[in-house]
Amino acid sequence: MKKDIYDVLKERVLILDGAYGTEFMKVCNLKGRPPEILNLEAPEVVERLQRSYVEAGADILLTNTFGATPAKLKKSGLEDEFENIVRAAVRIAKKVSEGRVFVFGDIGPTGELPYPIGKRDYDFFYNNFYKQAKLLIEEGVDGIILETFSDILELKSAIRAVRDISNEIFLIAHLTFDEKGRTLTGTTPEIFSAVLQDYNVDALGINCTLGPEEMLPVFQDLASRTGKFLSVEPNAGMPVVKEGKTVYPVSADEFAYYAESYWESGANIIGGCCGTTPEHIKKLKRVIGDRKPLERSPKKLISVTSAATFVDFSGFVVIGERINPAGRKKLRQALENGFTDIVFEEARVQLEKGADLLDVNFGVEQFVSDDTVRKTVMGISYSLSSPLSIDVQTQEKLVVAMKNYPGRPILNSIKVSQEDIYKIEILKRYGGMVVLLAMGDNLPKDFKDRVKAFEKGVRLLEDYGIDRERIIVDPVVIPAGAGGDVRAVLDMIKHLSELGFLTTMGVSNVSFGLPNRSYYNTALLVMALQNGLTSAIVNPLDEKLMGVLNASLVILRMKELPKKRVDTSDELTRLLLKGDSETLLTKVKEFLIQEKNALDVVEKYLKPAMEKIGVLYEKGKIFLPQLILASQTAKVAFDYLSEKLSTESGNNNKKVVIATVKGDIHDIGKNIVSAVMRSYGYEVIDLGHDVPAERIVEVVKREKPIVVALSAMMTTTAPRISEVVRKLKEEGLNVPVLVGGASLNERFAKELGAHYYASNPTEGVSFLKKLEGRRDA
Ligand code: ZN
Repeated sequence: MKKDIYDVLKERVLILDGAYGTEFMKVCNLKGRPPEILNLEAPEVVERLQRSYVEAGADILLTNTFGATPAKLKKSGLEDEFENIVRAAVRIAKKVSEGRVFVFGDIGPTGELPYPIGKRDYDFFYNNFYKQAKLLIEEGVDGIILETFSDILELKSAIRAVRDISNEIFLIAHLTFDEKGRTLTGTTPEIFSAVLQDYNVDALGINCTLGPEEMLPVFQDLASRTGKFLSVEPNAGMPVVKEGKTVYPVSADEFAYYAESYWESGANIIGGCCGTTPEHIKKLKRVIGDRKPLERSPKKLISVTSAATFVDFSGFVVIGERINPAGRKKLRQALENGFTDIVFEEARVQLEKGADLLDVNFGVEQFVSDDTVRKTVMGISYSLSSPLSIDVQTQEKLVVAMKNYPGRPILNSIKVSQEDIYKIEILKRYGGMVVLLAMGDNLPKDFKDRVKAFEKGVRLLEDYGIDRERIIVDPVVIPAGAGGDVRAVLDMIKHLSELGFLTTMGVSNVSFGLPNRSYYNTALLVMALQNGLTSAIVNPLDEKLMGVLNASLVILRMKELPKKRVDTSDELTRLLLKGDSETLLTKVKEFLIQEKNALDVVEKYLKPAMEKIGVLYEKGKIFLPQLILASQTAKVAFDYLSEKLSTESGNNNKKVVIATVKGDIHDIGKNIVSAVMRSYGYEVIDLGHDVPAERIVEVVKREKPIVVALSAMMTTTAPRISEVVRKLKEEGLNVPVLVGGASLNERFAKELGAHYYASNPTEGVSFLKKLEGRRDA
């Protein structure tokens, strides 16, 4: 079947079907239950819609299983129906298709986020997707589409799950981007393509959130960076309210008009997401007809990434060496006792001093738990947005580190030996670049020895399907004091450079056992640089070395090292960004003695620091994971100060009532907003998700908050906002309603009767501050 799809895709652009949820809403009342329940209770409704998509000209029909992971169904109390729902969905779609069109199993995200933003990890995601994909493939779908994902780790887990069931099945992977071209956890199209180039995915694409006009530049960005097939499903614009109903404003004609531009940009598969109808698909098909897809010549992406940071290997790359407990008792104890502030601090400082990415080594791994490995990898890569070089030796822990890594890491390192074959297999399974040591089972003696090992290693890796652009060769520096032949290392760098290989070296090895180590390290680095070295594992805190490195790069016209990534000039901002609540609390206590009252500490220190962080977030300098970490850290300080505040200032009401509306089980966005508001010192009363209007009104009456904040993720639940606004008015409660959520925009929010719309958490806080200003005046 995959071959069939490939054959067709070479000949013409395929049309994917349109929206399901918004179409079901028009014909039935789901009463807040997920649309997948229709597969069991009203299969004829699903069948009718799918039939109209086939008649409209769709080549690919999706099964009605977008939200049918066990975890998501559980939130609606439908976990027992999981298997029936998924199997029924495939049967319905296959009945409609009658073999005329392809049937793809549809898989959406779980609605949960990875640690440290949320609580989940690879295994949680993987197990959910594995179960769902297994049923879909068992029932005989022709392909799988992973769509509307907003985090790259969750997407990688889903791909791994599908591929563990079938290596053959045609697989499409989509992320959802905002207008700035970032996903929720900060991934760009460039990072998306870089990470997935190591994965067996047939098509990459984008869907949801944006209409065809806003999505186009993001799509073009993706198209310029990947050689895989391209797939796209825009929404029918951003929703508005007409006569009390939610409407997507982009007409079928307008939607089809943009198809031309998508085709010109290289699309292979085009369909519609929220708000599109059979009419949209019909017009789309009329424009596209049997057009042949255009050829593209994407750029190569030799890079490592975190979820939100892309490090390009076309320039010199500095790898920080300091997360390595060898000879450092405090760090060793920290790693043995669990992921702690010390490890985090060690990471942060290196990035501040100019490291592009960080090597992570756990020392004697038997004393370090799997959980620490997982938290270190996820914590540093998400919260500090740093790509990592994973220097882990034992098989089990290497797997934990590699599978939970949200981006494209470096696996550091493999030697040319049977002993290290397991590492190649892990690399192949989870993706990434790799450091190849120019040595076999024994240390290399001379230049020839190194060349022999290197050549053998490259062949070995290529046999496993790891191409040479993923390989960084380390000529193996042996301590000069132990009789190491450093000249052979330099010759090796030159040789590799002439062959066009990327190179790296553990510079500090050269000075082991010698006095004034920095001189030796710096000297070796400069000599190697001139021979063509492309990256180095160094101590970024060695100012002498970093200064000379920078100057050398300028002289050799290579490039200057990147500037500091984030402005962390003031201490509180820095403490918040690194999540160091302990030091923060000590600082806050000092301020309290100095200022004598808690309110001043909040106003003069904590709030400005959080505001700075808000600005960094708005400007795209930091991303959601860092914003959340800072918020959670600030909350610790606010909690400490709030007791003192209440005794100082009496009834200073800063209460906010927050809830996700009835029928909506999504609470990621709402939880983030709660955390951020709390970090600014507001008392947030969180009513959870799927909250009836009556309950919100009741709590507002009792608590008298300054604002009611409502979240609605789905288009189908957004009208519930009007209901809450109306009920509040009926009760004579004159409280402003602030709204946010994926299905909303400013105009739509106004139409629903809300007073203010916030597109992100920091905008929500700005609104609260505006309100306070008004009260003070
Ligand atoms: Zn959508």
